[in-house]
Amino acid sequence: GDKLRFGFKRTSEALGGNLTGLITKEKLDDETLDEIEEALIASDLGPAVAARVRDRLASGRYDRHLSELDIREIVAEELEDILRPVAVPLEIDAFPRPQVMLVIGVNGSGKTTTIAKLGHLFLEDDYNVMLVAGDTFRAAAIGQLKVWAERLGVPIISGEEGGDAASLVFEGVKRGTDDGTDVLIVDTAGRLQNKSHLMDELSKIRRVLGRLNEEAPHNVILVLDATTGQNALSQIEVFKEVANVTGLVMTKLDGTARGGVLVAAAEKFGLPIHAIGVGETLEDLRPFDPRAVARAITG
Ligand code: GDP
Repeated sequence: GDKLRFGFKRTSEALGGNLTGLITKEKLDDETLDEIEEALIASDLGPAVAARVRDRLASGRYDRHLSELDIREIVAEELEDILRPVAVPLEIDAFPRPQVMLVIGVNGSGKTTTIAKLGHLFLEDDYNVMLVAGDTFRAAAIGQLKVWAERLGVPIISGEEGGDAASLVFEGVKRGTDDGTDVLIVDTAGRLQNKSHLMDELSKIRRVLGRLNEEAPHNVILVLDATTGQNALSQIEVFKEVANVTGLVMTKLDGTARGGVLVAAAEKFGLPIHAIGVGETLEDLRPFDPRAVARAITG
């Protein structure tokens, strides 16, 4: 709805402003195609997406009259085509239990809030949920996750600031197995400025999990802040190096977000986009709807 449209406002305005100028042009010539391509690049969608749209417009339509509306429609269709394959809902396998979900991302991206939202979603589906406060570098993160756990009414495994995240995860899986937990959601540290430390931290967690259950973690969700625009792309690159990312959640698409980067990410990495965040409350996690996003961008 409106929240979503807002999240793509800056992308949409950048694109829309430039496309509007094309209304007077009668035919889709090279010059017009160049202008459309530039409009797409300038609006966070990135050069690869822009080139794809240009090819689509050019093939079979060259030298024919197209209205601005036609152009918008074709752009929307192409964006939707790029997004559709990555719109994958988050699924929880039946076995083994607990399913372990690592949530990763830089500090401030909305990781803690997204964990709470995911927990809420699983509770609504009648799953038993347990949280692990694995971001042991920040006392505030531990405290905040405890508050969410209490609000959700779910157990949480937590320790002291500076404690060992891997042993918390170990404890979580053991307790979760005894308690019949379906989903164990693990918060992790997000200090991107220290990549080797981050890698050590995550591989330690993975080693511990591997000893307990070969397939764990079953999901590794990377949380990205849509307001960071193209930065989100470099974050995906770094986190893909340090962890086996299985899917994305993009947050803050209710703000003045540069949501176009979502299309660039889909085109570049092809990683599943499970959901999007459109606010700070538990209800503000939405399924990722390619058509709605494509329309929000093209206006
Ligand atoms: P973390 O440091 O990655 O764990 O980030 P937090 O979960 O603490 O979120 C950082 C800030 O962003 C908090 O003020 C959250 O309320 C806010 N936030 C998280 N997700 C969203 C979202 O989808 N929309 C908006 N508007 N704010 C969000």
